[in-house]
Amino acid sequence: MTKEHEVLLPTRAVLAVKESNKRAFNRRQLAIAFLAISAAFFVWIRPVVYPGQKTGTVMIGTAGFTGYHCDQVPALVPDSSRLNDSQLFSPEFAATAAKRLSQAVQIPTVSFDNMTDLAPTVPDASVHLPFLRFHTFLENAFPLVHKHLLRRVINKYSLLYSWKGTNHYAAPLILMAHIDVVPVLPETANLWTHDPFSGYIDHENGFLWGRGAGDTKATVLGTLEAVEALLKATNGKYLPNSDIYLAFGHDEEISGYQGAKSIADYLQHDLGLAGKVGLIVDEGPGFGEVNDVRLATVGTGEKG
Ligand SMILES: [Zn+2]
Repeated sequence: MTKEHEVLLPTRAVLAVKESNKRAFNRRQLAIAFLAISAAFFVWIRPVVYPGQKTGTVMIGTAGFTGYHCDQVPALVPDSSRLNDSQLFSPEFAATAAKRLSQAVQIPTVSFDNMTDLAPTVPDASVHLPFLRFHTFLENAFPLVHKHLLRRVINKYSLLYSWKGTNHYAAPLILMAHIDVVPVLPETANLWTHDPFSGYIDHENGFLWGRGAGDTKATVLGTLEAVEALLKATNGKYLPNSDIYLAFGHDEEISGYQGAKSIADYLQHDLGLAGKVGLIVDEGPGFGEVNDVRLATVGTGEKG
């Protein structure tokens, strides 16, 4: 007889021990299940209190907010030791900024669908010339930015400015926008109150007209105005805490495959920033209302 034919029959005592282990196992499972359900209860249904909030109320699952009240968090006030309000809110500053935005709108950096295949191979195609003009315009309009930040041209027409921070361990910040605008169909040109590439400033009502005035040359120019003003106020000595990147793509309106994607590739592969960025600010979906609460919505993706 070989060993493989031996069968050990369990004795009553062995069976009893096994039975008791099984019961203990069941009790353990029950305890774990109870803890899991309790944890889920506290995570899923719990008082929600945010800093600065006066009324703690209850959020129930995904059913929405019940009696929700969220106070406005205190406003962030810029450090006036470097830039004071009189500089930023003076009529002169506003007039200069508006004039520069108007000039930016006057450069027709239109992205067309058929540019997708042109850009890598035909850099001097006439449709791209406004983008080169736009680069030159920015160089002239923001001399301190171009003196103190490192500018890289990415894939011929997109721009990436790097501003080295003093804290090596701080997560970098990326401020994005796009320099291209959508075309104006010839048959719709006469529907405009003011020419879409005039950059007309309506002083009376406080409006600036044209393609890109809001989407997003205002963001490009606003970002550069802020950096330029900060550098000007500190004689070029201001250094940010974390590294800051200003990333301006040139084809967001046709999906960003040439611009933002090339910038992203550069940031990830050349600068090794994959997974290390602290915050990205981009065009995004803007503001929204949820149950009468005004929210600055958080975007989970943008092609800028
Ligand atoms: Zn846009």
